[in-house]
Amino acid sequence: MPFVDADALSKREYDVIVVGSGAGGGQMAYTLTMGGARVLMLEAGRRYDPATETAMFQTPEMAPLRGTGTPEKPFGFYDATIDGGWQVPGEPYVSASEAEGRRFRWWRARMLGGRTNHWGRMSLRNGPYDFKPRSRDGLGFDWPISYEDIAPWYDKVEMLVGVYGSNEGLENTPDSPEGCLLPPPKPFVSDLLIQKHSAKVGFRTIAGHRAVLTRPLDWKRAPAKLHPGNAAAQAIVARDMRRRAACLWATPCGNGCSIRANYQSTTVHLPPALETGRLDIATDAMVAEVMLDRKGRASGVRFIDKRSGRSREAHARVVVLAASACETVRILLNSKSSRFPDGLANANGRVGKYLMDTVGSSVSGQIPILENLPPHNEDGASWGHMYAPWWEYQAQKAGRLPFARGYHVEFAGGRRMPDFYTAGGLEWLTHGSYGRKFKGDARRYYGSFVYFAGRGEMIPNDDSYCEIDPDTKDKWGIPVLRFHWKWSGHETRQAAHMQKTFADLIEAMGGRLEKPPVTDGAKAIAPGGSIIHEVGGAMMGDDARHSVVDRNCRAWEVDNLFLADGSVFPSNADKNPTLTIMANAWRVGDVILDRMQRKEL
Ligand SMILES: Cc1cc2nc3c(=O)[nH]c(=O)nc-3n(C[C@H](O)[C@H](O)[C@H](O)COP(=O)(O)OP(=O)(O)OC[C@H]3O[C@@H](n4cnc5c(N)ncnc54)[C@H](O)[C@@H]3O)c2cc1C
Ligand code: SF4
Repeated sequence: MPFVDADALSKREYDVIVVGSGAGGGQMAYTLTMGGARVLMLEAGRRYDPATETAMFQTPEMAPLRGTGTPEKPFGFYDATIDGGWQVPGEPYVSASEAEGRRFRWWRARMLGGRTNHWGRMSLRNGPYDFKPRSRDGLGFDWPISYEDIAPWYDKVEMLVGVYGSNEGLENTPDSPEGCLLPPPKPFVSDLLIQKHSAKVGFRTIAGHRAVLTRPLDWKRAPAKLHPGNAAAQAIVARDMRRRAACLWATPCGNGCSIRANYQSTTVHLPPALETGRLDIATDAMVAEVMLDRKGRASGVRFIDKRSGRSREAHARVVVLAASACETVRILLNSKSSRFPDGLANANGRVGKYLMDTVGSSVSGQIPILENLPPHNEDGASWGHMYAPWWEYQAQKAGRLPFARGYHVEFAGGRRMPDFYTAGGLEWLTHGSYGRKFKGDARRYYGSFVYFAGRGEMIPNDDSYCEIDPDTKDKWGIPVLRFHWKWSGHETRQAAHMQKTFADLIEAMGGRLEKPPVTDGAKAIAPGGSIIHEVGGAMMGDDARHSVVDRNCRAWEVDNLFLADGSVFPSNADKNPTLTIMANAWRVGDVILDRMQRKEL
């Protein structure tokens, strides 16, 4: 205990197997073990210890190529992703088309904690509209649950992981009850400038919501709200909250946080779950399929022990897949049997369908008023001290916009630790200065740029899905996914709207653009998958004919099989998905505990 060897597993019996250790798997393991269940977590990646492995205080000049991104480490030398990225060696995937707008990119991290070790930590609640989009505009699908159904678990997740933000009472941008949010950090200088001018293009900037501790968690009061009536769980979580330090405002969150000031599954969910003594974790365990007993119930999983390359089995009363949306789909589709010849839970052919990402488009500009500012510390909690929620609900309702659904705006500016690019690409401003003049120019322009990124809702469509590629297997012999992708006009027109809005705002700030905004939305939109918010593929619903799982994320066709990641999303609101993945996983975990207590599972 608690890290276990694959060879030992076939002899043990668990209450629940959780596949994957990221946001969904971490939350599920936490909820179940705190509630008394004995859990085995199987993780395809290697063991990762943020306390000893995080490159937190290393600076760019200490790294090769000043830490810049390379094909192996696209987000930079120190980025926390291990054994992954846009490609995972030996684990390919296939794009059905290489045509522009039809390719899908897939970011995977093969490590304990998955992508939560380096994600952006932007943590927004979906609003009431976001759960019922079809009822509002006739497009896509409604969720079988409402905002009110999931709100109590948003509260709990915010209290447990620690999310800063503010309550503003804005449309479809839910406020959190008292005691849930931490106070936001102060805005950057560039944030204040953006705030001053943003009204000219219509939007309002407010405090960002990120999973970063701006002060220590409320370990005296929060545990009782998180685990009412469960004194043991309260004591564990109170102890663990005291071990997490508040942010020290100086190091890039994407490298990970060894002081546990931001949310990573490895620093927030897994330590208390392990402390219960009820969690076993097997790393390097690549799950290939869900196994069934004679009655057609899940009996466990078959996995490859990557260290030996051998096939192994593990057994439990309940199986939860939380391997990330597309990996969960892959496991379901690869779980073929005489009873389920087209893959598990796929009698209606819906597994893999309605894959979504976020609509992304960005514009940056140079702002003369930010030149030559006196040097001052602008590190902060990496970025995201402020953002702007979608502001055009009423214009949209009145039919004044050429697309359905909206986007929020994330932005950044100011100085960071100088790196490879700090004085690069300035020719459009310096016109090619050299020597002393160039040094002066580099100082002048350092920190005078602003960057805007739109993050918008994609409406699920019939042409965006994944399936098993009939010809390709990974190095473990497991068939891989083939992706099909297509944006609709709603998304491309939204991307064009982002370009115009951001360019207008930069102009309003007295700034300049290196290139004019892209007016063709099909060219302005980031490729499918590249925003790394992929969800869908195993939709939840109230009708077994059209969905893969029910409202409690239980497979319609297998009573003791649950999904706990973004695969179950029927829509992908502009709000980044991870907070909702966690809130939903906690909700589903409580359902499993309840059903286990009633001996239904
Ligand atoms: C750079 C970056 C920035 C991001 N920023 C944000 C943000 O600001 N806000 C936001 O909401 N989201 C953000 N995201 C997305 C966020 O990381 C994901 O939504 C979230 O991690 C999904 O959680 P998950 O548990 O479903 O998947 P993951 O975190 O990917 O975890 C899945 C785990 O399952 C394991 N696994 C996969 N297949 C198998 C298998 N067959 N057997 C066993 N284990 C398996 C994987 O190795 C992995 O560890 C960002 C992502 C990236 C990469
Ligand atoms: S900025 Fe704060 S939360 Fe982010 S890595 Fe540094 S200490 Fe951790």
